[in-house]
Amino acid sequence: MTKLLIDKTSGEDIKFTIGKDDVEKVAIGDKKVIISGPCSVEDIDTMRSICKRLKEIGVHILRGGAFKPRTSPYDFQGLGEEGVKILHEVSRENKMPFVTEVMDARHIELIEPYADMLQIGSRNMYNYTLLKEVGKLDIPIILKRGMSATLSEWLLAAEYILKEGNEKVIMCERGIRTFENYTRNTLDLNSVAVIKNKYRLPVIVDPSHGTGLRELVSTMSLSAIATGCDGLIIESHTHPDNAVSDARQTISIETLKDLNDKIKLMETILGN
Ligand code: PEP
Ligand code: MN
Repeated sequence: MTKLLIDKTSGEDIKFTIGKDDVEKVAIGDKKVIISGPCSVEDIDTMRSICKRLKEIGVHILRGGAFKPRTSPYDFQGLGEEGVKILHEVSRENKMPFVTEVMDARHIELIEPYADMLQIGSRNMYNYTLLKEVGKLDIPIILKRGMSATLSEWLLAAEYILKEGNEKVIMCERGIRTFENYTRNTLDLNSVAVIKNKYRLPVIVDPSHGTGLRELVSTMSLSAIATGCDGLIIESHTHPDNAVSDARQTISIETLKDLNDKIKLMETILGN
């Protein structure tokens, strides 16, 4: 591969802060950043109680999908603009930054004024028009790995964003499709090791979509931390069984609290 902006040899490791001026900013690239919340924004009351609990247990950034890329067009498609406004309201009540997915370049002007960070989902990793558009913004971007993307394809997708001027990119390993079907995806932690070794970008891991099974989320989270990732994005809910989407992989806030305690312990052991 030719020398890229994302190569370690092209400059210092990329570090930045996440959050607009009305929230507690979070630095990525030093301590492990924990991002959590439901798969989808469901309604304001549920989102408010989830956000409050996440803040109490020390989660740094709220997540929630308002524009949802669902496999079936008959499944809940998300609340759209209303969902973004709900995220904004509850995140500000708790001074917590939030991230939400942008599925279409036409939605950027609607989402960007509210959100602290944008997510490019797995299904859009190859959407070069969208990558170029978010590359023109000055807001952090989580770039999820395409479910069938090679590491090189995923890295070049990040390069598209950097090339337009936006260096605030976080890679997110979320599992790939393999012949294995016990788990929803196969969580490829090799990619984390490669990125930490050769590239300047921070990398986080999504063990929720990476496994599809809530009983595996804590184990794979700790494995990801041991591999050297910069953080985790985990689906959680106050009533996981009632989650409107991805209930099977959603953990309770209590489970997340236990996990977070273990992550902090691991951080002291690993020395970062
Ligand atoms: C999500 O994080 O809500 C999501 C849809 O994930 P992915 O794009 O990785 O499937
Ligand atoms: Mn989900």
